[in-house]
Amino acid sequence: MACLFCKIARGEIPANVVLDQPEVMAFRDINPVAPTHILIIPKRHIASLAEITAAETGVLGEMFLAARELAARDNVLSSGFRTVFNTGSDAGQTVFHLHLHLLAGRVMAWPPG
Ligand code: AMP
Ligand code: ZN
Repeated sequence: MACLFCKIARGEIPANVVLDQPEVMAFRDINPVAPTHILIIPKRHIASLAEITAAETGVLGEMFLAARELAARDNVLSSGFRTVFNTGSDAGQTVFHLHLHLLAGRVMAWPPG
């Protein structure tokens, strides 16, 4: 499959991998918008949150646990962090392989742009 994040998950494209688990992996965003900007993905291809079913609840839970673990490693548990799924064109999704953005290390605006 010609999906960029599937290729990263299979090790065919290099990435700055920070977590590698059986179902989930995480790597630093190539174009970070915050001091901590990590993408957490399921290794199995899921296009977006619009595609999930009850079968994905387990892997979604693992993705959030990974976010917590990575926030702890980057020392931002107490300062705070943001977790974001962009879904579809209005939300600005550009890579159609599900990914959870973990953003931290600076004060963030609300509402997002
Ligand atoms: P989204 O706009 O939510 O679909 O986010 C896609 C993210 O993937 C963007 O923040 C990109 O900077 C990031 N990205 C694109 N290609 C790569 C890559 N090869 N390695 C790491 N991050 C990437
Ligand atoms: Zn994929």
